[in-house]
Amino acid sequence: MTEIIDGNAVAQSIRDDLSTAIDQLADAGHTPTLATVLMSDDPASETYVSMKQSDCEEVGIEALDIDIDPEADASELYDTVSELNADESVNGILVQMPVPDHVSDRQVLRAIDPRKDVDGFHPENVGRLVAGDARYKPCTPHGIQKLIDSAGVDTEGKEAVVVGRSDIVGKPMANLLIQKAPGGNATTTVCHSRTEDLAEKTRSADILVAAAGVPEMIDGEMVAEGATVIDVGINRVDVSEQGSEGSQTESDEADTDKGYELVGDVEFESAKEKAGAITPVPGGVGPMTRAMLLYNTVKATGLQHDIDVDLS
Ligand code: NDP
Repeated sequence: MTEIIDGNAVAQSIRDDLSTAIDQLADAGHTPTLATVLMSDDPASETYVSMKQSDCEEVGIEALDIDIDPEADASELYDTVSELNADESVNGILVQMPVPDHVSDRQVLRAIDPRKDVDGFHPENVGRLVAGDARYKPCTPHGIQKLIDSAGVDTEGKEAVVVGRSDIVGKPMANLLIQKAPGGNATTTVCHSRTEDLAEKTRSADILVAAAGVPEMIDGEMVAEGATVIDVGINRVDVSEQGSEGSQTESDEADTDKGYELVGDVEFESAKEKAGAITPVPGGVGPMTRAMLLYNTVKATGLQHDIDVDLS
């Protein structure tokens, strides 16, 4: 029987575990606080930010919601980030991507104080991750590590194949899988759009992480018998017109609009026939990304107040 890995259930257990650490911080007089900065009127980004806010409320993290007019000068965003960096009551800062074209996303990510960079995208935090001394693991790959662990799969010595090499998913995922640490020690291959014979690579995987943003590109023929398949992709497929487009944010997990359905990068039905364990879309990786942001915010609060919080 193939195990369907329930991301909602694992995310809930992460949130439950966080309550101990949040109580510990409260006893010391600190409420973890996450500032979300939105410089966009894209409905998906708005939904994503509001989901973060309600996630925070649910576990007892204070959420500070900052909206910046997407037409405003880039300096307004940089100034806001500077103020949040200096504000001792703020423990985590998340600037919702994408930012408008006239703002450099790279510059914004570098402007965030690395101790408050709960996305884990600042070069200092990327460097620490690569060096095996992660401060904040990026939320999606960290959540995937937890999902693999929840399925009772040991990564040590396994062949892992990551499809996708983005800075937010593919690269940090591969970095976590190669670390000499629990959840790592896998022999890891990273594939991308220039990879030749992708199917040959994916069929060699004991653990296959699909993060390409191409609807259902990995079918059962590309999956090894018994493999653990983690589907990161969230793609809108237009039901009425039979067309499709890749979507860019995990906020779509919550989208209930009619006219399209959400599919992953994996063709679930055929892959399920081969896999030992597989994540669904929605309800797999998406909820974990959100839970790990809360985790990083709590961790950040502990680090900033020199409190050794109880996080597993
Ligand atoms: P990007 O578009 O930044 O990166 C996609 C990667 O996939 C690139 O490295 C690209 O290669 C590679 N790729 C594209 N097409 C192919 C192909 N045909 N064969 C092999 N490799 C290919 O996407 P993200 O990493 O940001 O996101 C990937 C997916 O995950 C998206 O669907 C996104 O919506 C979803 N996502 C889901 C999250 C969640 O919480 N569930 C969180 C974040 C993202 P190249 O580098 O050569 O261009």
